[in-house]
Amino acid sequence: MARHANIAFFIPHLGCPHRCAFCSQRTISGEEAAAAPETVRAELEAAFARELDPASTEIAFFGGSFTCLPRERMEEYLAAAAPYVRRGQCAGIRVSTRPDGIDGEILALLARYGVTAIELGAQSLDDRVLARNGRGHSAADVWEASRRIRAFPGAPFSLGLQIMTGLDGEDAESRSRTREGVLAIRPDTLRIYPTVVLEGTVLAERLRAGTYHPPGVAETAAFLAPMLAEYEAAGIRIIRVGLHASAKVERAVIGGAYHPAMRELCEAARFRRRMETLLAGIPPGEAAVAVHPRALSRAVGQKKENLRWAESCGYRLRLVPDSGVELDGLCLLFPEKAEIRVLRPEERTGSDCYEFALPHAFPGGHWNADSFLLPDGDAGIGRLAPCLEQVFPQFAWYGPQKVPLSAWARVEALAREDAGLAGFFAFVRRWLEGRRGEDFFWILGI
Ligand code: SF4
Repeated sequence: MARHANIAFFIPHLGCPHRCAFCSQRTISGEEAAAAPETVRAELEAAFARELDPASTEIAFFGGSFTCLPRERMEEYLAAAAPYVRRGQCAGIRVSTRPDGIDGEILALLARYGVTAIELGAQSLDDRVLARNGRGHSAADVWEASRRIRAFPGAPFSLGLQIMTGLDGEDAESRSRTREGVLAIRPDTLRIYPTVVLEGTVLAERLRAGTYHPPGVAETAAFLAPMLAEYEAAGIRIIRVGLHASAKVERAVIGGAYHPAMRELCEAARFRRRMETLLAGIPPGEAAVAVHPRALSRAVGQKKENLRWAESCGYRLRLVPDSGVELDGLCLLFPEKAEIRVLRPEERTGSDCYEFALPHAFPGGHWNADSFLLPDGDAGIGRLAPCLEQVFPQFAWYGPQKVPLSAWARVEALAREDAGLAGFFAFVRRWLEGRRGEDFFWILGI
């Protein structure tokens, strides 16, 4: 049977105008020197001597700034690969490069040799973060290169973006700017690389000097979980989360978010978010939730962390495999019906809902990843309405309502008779742990 294969060549640092603060391409690729064009030719010949599935085989040049290579060298690589595309032996050629390494002439050259996919190392869409990490290009370069790739006559290229999280200087706002930019550019593919601090880089020096504090694995998984959902909902195919694991990388890691199964951790965090909102709708006790059999391990989480979390919240949770459930879904089996429906922003399907926002999230836009939502009606905010109106006679149903924690305690006390809401109030207490010392939150009628 013909086999799927990606025939990848790493071109570390060749063509790269400088060193970014995080970069140690030789460690990441595991290659000390770039493959010479003759080596590429020989390896391609050997690879295609096997029976490969043309539709799912790609030749890829990764690891550097391909279009910044000396022209002659770039054409030698492309000339080695092009015959296999022309003869229909593979689906195409994929290259990765810097956003400022793209112009009309380069694109015409790539198209001539049969390049079908271009991945741009965008890393961030915040100029401050780009500058702080020595990228040498701006966010505008990313937008412009993406536009040119998309607009090239005949649309021969698929557009990929590579972004990083946890770079020096990144905060929730810059992360959100990058997220919004990615959603607006809507690349065909996306690779997400949480920053891993490697020995020998500028970031390693800053880490040691105590001027840079990269987010770790758990924090990264928590903020990436809702982003993955949003990107996928926008039709963006996420083809990688985290560096390829290798002994060489592991030896060089001195900080940041390295985990050999980073994507699985993020997926487990996604299920945990869904579990949190699903269980918030029912009182603590027995619960059974159906999950697609292929998603079972992600729902359980690494070392059963999601089940242990449910237990710590008072739920004896049983996960029941059911192929009728969507691959990334959860369906409540017992009790049969939630008392109240709680959603995360990435789960919303319409806008008739009330956003519960932490103080740092508002003003500053809606659908913050830290927020949760209650829909309109009896299975949502309507269930709380009588208590809210007793505590706030002028409750701002159509605008931001500031909710001091002392007032919320009165709402909770008034609702105590409604035993079905016990899970919801416990959920809100846990959610409020995410605030940064403030003594209020917002309810935003939208
Ligand atoms: S442009 Fe790419 S290859 Fe060059 S230093 Fe930066 S990350 Fe490394």
